[in-house]
Amino acid sequence: MTDPVLQVENISKSFGALKASNEISLDLRPGEIHALIGPNGAGKSTLIKQIAGSLRPDEGRITALGRDITGLDTVARARLGLGRTFQISSLAMEFSVLQNAVLGALGARGRAFGLFSNVMKDKALLHTAHEALRRVGLEEAAQQRTSDLSHGQRRQLEVAVALTLKPRLFLMDEPMAGLGASGSKDLTGFLDGLRHEAPILLVEHDMDAVFALADRISVLVYGTVIATGTADEIRTNAEVRRAYLGEEDLA
Ligand code: ADP
Ligand code: MG
Repeated sequence: MTDPVLQVENISKSFGALKASNEISLDLRPGEIHALIGPNGAGKSTLIKQIAGSLRPDEGRITALGRDITGLDTVARARLGLGRTFQISSLAMEFSVLQNAVLGALGARGRAFGLFSNVMKDKALLHTAHEALRRVGLEEAAQQRTSDLSHGQRRQLEVAVALTLKPRLFLMDEPMAGLGASGSKDLTGFLDGLRHEAPILLVEHDMDAVFALADRISVLVYGTVIATGTADEIRTNAEVRRAYLGEEDLA
């Protein structure tokens, strides 16, 4: 079997008396979409933050792309190839779509950049930015103000910004949030193709998207992974049904 690109081993994290992550272990394999589902407050975002490096686990180890990354900060992890989209948008709303993508591409260089007007003339950065916009289908919106984009387009732009860093794996926290049915469907199709370039650990509430996309699903309840398996295994798991999935979701 091929080695996982990401391995989380026995991660625990407490906030005061609350154990938000309770000895969590999971992995992400090449070409895979691994969905992480669970009720609000289960600790999904807390886990993603520990993998991305913005939150330190109390215990446990995280290995990615063959390296122990437990002690690395977010910048080092991003440079290593961990791409991330956030539950809350990190876009600069007053900037153009292209400027946001260029800022993302700039992050890959990891140094101060001087005047933004000069940056916007940098051919290599522009190429990377345009290429990322093209891939998510936003090339024609490049000159628009980001605040004028639809919810769905903003999500696409967030993915484009992440793509400029040429990630080798993706962490996505509720990318479908706020999208209508057609927006979710478009993004689902896009993620389906993206997995072959970079596998995705996907936190998502949209069960249609999860069951359509996920090769494996892990269910998190009160900080504990209660099951990991294929969509069929999760659908028919009695404990999962009791703890989380309502009958109506499984029709
Ligand atoms: P989810 O993303 O699954 O909805 P979170 O990871 O955001 O859940 O939160 C898990 C639990 O940890 C919740 O009870 C939340 O209130 C708590 N929590 C999250 N972040 C913090 C924090 N920085 N300080 C204290 N409690 C937190
Ligand atoms: Mg969350």
